[in-house]
Amino acid sequence: MHVLILGGTTEARRLAELLDGTPGLKLTSSLAGRVAGPRLPPGETRVGGFGGAEGLAAWLREHAVDAVVDATHPFAGSISFNAARAAAVTHVPLLALRRAEWVPIEGDRWHQVPSLKEAARSLPALGRRVFLTTGRMGLAAFADLDDLWFLVRSVDAPEPPHPPRTEVLLDRGPFTLEGERELLLRHHIDVVVTKNSGGSATAPKLTAAREFGLPVVVVRRPPVPEDVPVVPDPGQAARWVGEHLAQGFFRAID
Ligand code: NAP
Repeated sequence: MHVLILGGTTEARRLAELLDGTPGLKLTSSLAGRVAGPRLPPGETRVGGFGGAEGLAAWLREHAVDAVVDATHPFAGSISFNAARAAAVTHVPLLALRRAEWVPIEGDRWHQVPSLKEAARSLPALGRRVFLTTGRMGLAAFADLDDLWFLVRSVDAPEPPHPPRTEVLLDRGPFTLEGERELLLRHHIDVVVTKNSGGSATAPKLTAAREFGLPVVVVRRPPVPEDVPVVPDPGQAARWVGEHLAQGFFRAID
């Protein structure tokens, strides 16, 4: 049985680790190729786009893929729709592994917005020194905010356009609460911007912001394809793969 994991997330790597070495299972993880030095999962890895839904469907057929797990980031909207279309035309079972959203709790000062553009629009009324954690793509939305100062944290260096008063911090999660507190204090941050990515690796910034009473601009998730079964963690995704593996085995000996 050949399983394709559409990856680029901690959960995708964790799923590959859980499935690695399963007898009768061939595993391929796919990365978009956005990060210069990605942490590679066990098993085979391929890098780069497929060429839309049609390209992905052709890849599934050519490589005799039996099941696909879409474990891409909740904000990677295109690839999830491509996966749903490709799975539908090839009749390959598809599961989405998507971490649960963060939800505000008492003490949070969240401003939920539908896009990075709206996040940028809301900022001047909320603060002057911004901790921007939305990744290096999409910084153009903030490029006109020349009165504000930005601490941009990303895995790879962002390319222009970005706000003129920007300090870049190259780092990748998981982050600690202690570290996030220290960062907010050291840079005199008065507002935080984040996508609602969910997961524990980058959640401590929300706790630190709550403790300091800071406003957080939270970009809501984009839509995802309907009718695709979803699980929130790698363990459940591994079980789904195991069930398909068992079905394939019993079909083979039938
Ligand atoms: P996207 O808008 O959904 O994808 C754009 C195009 O990139 C897709 O149409 C596809 O090209 C290619 N692609 C995306 N994920 C791929 C994968 N796993 N394997 C092969 N091709 C892939 O996604 P994005 O927002 O640019 O994110 C790109 C990757 O970074 C995703 O894999 C995601 O898991 C990861 N990531 C994204 C974010 C974020 O905030 N967006 C954060 C962390 C990690 P073709 O149409 O040519 O197949």
